[in-house]
Amino acid sequence: MTNVRTRFPPSPTGYLHIGSARTALFNYLFARQHGGEFVLRIEDTDRERSTDEAVKVILDSMEWMGLDYDEGPFYQTKRFDRYREVVEQLLADGHAYKCYCSPEELTEMRETAMANKQKPRYNGYWRDRSDPPGEGIEPVIRFKNPTTGSVVIDDAVKGPITVENSELDDLVIMRSDGTPTYNLCVVVDDLDMEITHVIRGDDHVNNTPRQINIFKALGADLPIFAHLPMILGEDGKRMSKRHGAVSVMQYAEDGYLRDALLNHLVRLGWSHGDQEIFSVGEMTKLFGLDNVNSSGAVFDVKKLDWLNQQYIQNASTDTLATGLVEHLGKAGVSTENGPAPALVADLLRDRAVTFAEMAQGAKPFYQAPTEYDAKAVKKQFSAVTAEHLQLVHDKFAALPEFTATAIDACLQASVAELEVGFGKIGLPLRIAVTGTTASPALDQTLAVMGQDRVLGRIKTAVEYCRSL
Ligand code: GLU
Repeated sequence: MTNVRTRFPPSPTGYLHIGSARTALFNYLFARQHGGEFVLRIEDTDRERSTDEAVKVILDSMEWMGLDYDEGPFYQTKRFDRYREVVEQLLADGHAYKCYCSPEELTEMRETAMANKQKPRYNGYWRDRSDPPGEGIEPVIRFKNPTTGSVVIDDAVKGPITVENSELDDLVIMRSDGTPTYNLCVVVDDLDMEITHVIRGDDHVNNTPRQINIFKALGADLPIFAHLPMILGEDGKRMSKRHGAVSVMQYAEDGYLRDALLNHLVRLGWSHGDQEIFSVGEMTKLFGLDNVNSSGAVFDVKKLDWLNQQYIQNASTDTLATGLVEHLGKAGVSTENGPAPALVADLLRDRAVTFAEMAQGAKPFYQAPTEYDAKAVKKQFSAVTAEHLQLVHDKFAALPEFTATAIDACLQASVAELEVGFGKIGLPLRIAVTGTTASPALDQTLAVMGQDRVLGRIKTAVEYCRSL
């Protein structure tokens, strides 16, 4: 195979959609697997809808996902001269023509077609005309689509797709204000950037025959086209906000690991036997267009959660600690004057689905409870509890080393001495240190929290219980 070159050309009109991220990933993997290049192109010709903010979101999303590109970002708005040059060439070669139809004439044309139960389309009025145009009308430039024969897309995912040329009308390639249109820009860019494989969502499959005809008119070889199946929500409808977050950065924000998200994305339409977990290295080795499914792929948030949990459980302590600090920071919690985040992260790794959840569970390690869970207080706190907690406090205070084993021994001794069940001490103690009854193993929680912090919090709870 010649040197493989793929591209990812998002339009910067909002957040980076999860479907676009899947397209980016497939293009990235395909290029990497073949030792080729991956190009990033920003399709910003729609000046009204494109924003700098959205460009930044694209660049940030690519960086967060770790999808490094070898070339770009190229901006279509910087290439207008080149598009004009190609339009001139198409005009000169007889593959394009000026159309002077007024908006009213075009509306009439559409209405007549519809009245005759035909597709509303341009009827080629100016295609072969040489009579002078009306005064003061700036023409658009249309591509002279072949009128006979058919176009075959030899789609690497969907197989051959044949479209009759008679179905395609003469597309506007340059508007009357001189701005080029999407289908022209894409072809010129894919040509100039020497793209060998166009891998994109199947919402573009209708554009492809038109683009193929332009490629041919320019005497160019065709890239290989691969149209990826649509991403669906669990109800089988096109994935939208109703089904969960659709923006890549929202997943980063919510504390998903990039490897888990990429793992989830790669399985949207691609499979390798029944394997579910793929590292980026593995996907790069195994990915192929031949194993891309042509029917819709379901985005199941529960599956992503499961994957994320797997990745959290198996992540290095460093990765977890970094993620935890970042997400605690977002929640306004500093880890500076508390236990080492690595210890907290390791303690919580089996319980958290996301970093956001982990940060929530880690808060008590860095912030004393400002209030106690009301229901728990009602059930577990009383004047007697104060005495129980005081005993535990004094035993803890005497410990030379505040380890989980020593803590556990203290708790057992207190239970024996007070002749109560473990819950009578364990539950109030949890409330005293975390504010709620939910936390990982108590002895470990306390050990990680540290002796001084634990003693201080028990004291506060004792006073609180006495005041009841
Ligand atoms: N800019 C187009 C989009 O964001 C992509 C076009 C293409 O892949 O050819 O949908």
